[in-house]
Amino acid sequence: MQFPELAERVADVRGRIAAAVARGGHGQHVTLIAVTKTFGADAAREAWGAGVHDVGENRVQEALPKIAAITVPVRWHLIGHLQRNKAKSAESFVLVHSLDSARLADALHERGIARGQPIDVLVQVNVSGEAAKSGWAPAGLAVEAERLRGLGGVRVKGVMTMAPLDADEGVLRRTFAGAREARDVLRAAGHEAAELSMGMSNDYEIAVEEGATMVRLGTVLFGARTPATGGHGNA
Ligand SMILES: *Cc1c(COP(=O)(O)O)cnc(C)c1O
Repeated sequence: MQFPELAERVADVRGRIAAAVARGGHGQHVTLIAVTKTFGADAAREAWGAGVHDVGENRVQEALPKIAAITVPVRWHLIGHLQRNKAKSAESFVLVHSLDSARLADALHERGIARGQPIDVLVQVNVSGEAAKSGWAPAGLAVEAERLRGLGGVRVKGVMTMAPLDADEGVLRRTFAGAREARDVLRAAGHEAAELSMGMSNDYEIAVEEGATMVRLGTVLFGARTPATGGHGNA
């Protein structure tokens, strides 16, 4: 086993998530997504063995060989940027968390129509307004939410956001609350939008208190990534 402590870590994280749900009062179900980027296919296999059935990768090129290498039926989530010319590879994932432009929406819509089944997506929202982060500013979301109603090849399941690194608790809470409000905007436009994908190793308890329904955890489960290949990049 590459990750001998994984089962214990999963149990600890699940306990913390349950406690955060109770504190936050949103009463939501939370899906734990194990982020295996930079680790081998073993990480996904062992996550499954530890009872974690959802696995996230941020790069298509890295994900596809792992998906091919694994026989256990984990649900693969794409959590990083998807290039429009790779829209077809969205079909390898149960959910694309990183719908970050109108042009990508158009490309995924075409794929969804072509395969005869919509592609499930989360709309990425850049609440904090950092220039390096992709996604919609909350102020611009209502217009796109309307437009997405016309794209039958994509199904908008909710919102994804990333908080600024090393932010204090107040900033984190405002960011996560902003994502929750963005989900309300999608719902008001008629999307199902039940999901809120937010929270990583260093901020997931606050994210769950603020209503996260999906947390994306790498480091706290598998240990530190090497800086050269890891990081919180979204590119
Ligand atoms: C890497 C990554 C994560 C996991 O980060 P950790 O801090 O290791 O938990 C979550 N979300 C996205 C989009 C990522 O790229």
